[in-house]
Amino acid sequence: MSKPTFVIVGASLAGAKAAEELRTCGFDGRILLIGAEPDRPYERPPLTKDYLRGESEREQAHVHPADFYAQQEIELVTGVTVTAVEPGRSQLTLDDSYVVGYDRLLLATGSEPRRLQVPRRGPGRHLLPAHARRL
Ligand SMILES: Cc1cc2nc3c(=O)[nH]c(=O)nc-3n(C[C@H](O)[C@H](O)[C@H](O)COP(=O)(O)OP(=O)(O)OC[C@H]3O[C@@H](n4cnc5c(N)ncnc54)[C@H](O)[C@@H]3O)c2cc1C
Repeated sequence: MSKPTFVIVGASLAGAKAAEELRTCGFDGRILLIGAEPDRPYERPPLTKDYLRGESEREQAHVHPADFYAQQEIELVTGVTVTAVEPGRSQLTLDDSYVVGYDRLLLATGSEPRRLQVPRRGPGRHLLPAHARRL
């Protein structure tokens, strides 16, 4: 019998830690961690604190070292959005129309703040996206 596939949608803090925990608990099936952002999982708080102030490096904000996912046999797929989930067929669709089957699914897609609906940007008013980079 083939090993089960555990798909995690959302490659941020929750998704990355869930993948880690699966391995820690002995899950030896396939783990697919799919995230819409181009970067590997990172923590957001430094973006508005030490990283923004230039007091820490970008690398430190990542949840795991770059080689962690390969070492743990976690397939990290970045820059890909899941566009549909069909629980009845245990499959989901990616933004390139590719269909992925799963045995277990975790949705760790987080949330986004509502944008302030104002007529136009004014002085002192800025949008700070989650993926903001220090200039
Ligand atoms: C700038 C900033 C500063 C913060 N500072 C603090 C702080 O100081 N203290 C604190 O407690 N909290 C802070 N937070 C909040 C904290 O970072 C969040 O609670 C935490 O990131 C939640 O993690 P998460 O993995 O659940 O969701 P998220 O971090 O929101 O990640 C969800 C991920 O899922 C991906 N995703 C969503 N839909 C799809 C899809 N359909 N297909 C593929 N991928 C998808 C998203 O791209 C995202 O990468 C801060 C947040 C921000 C943005």
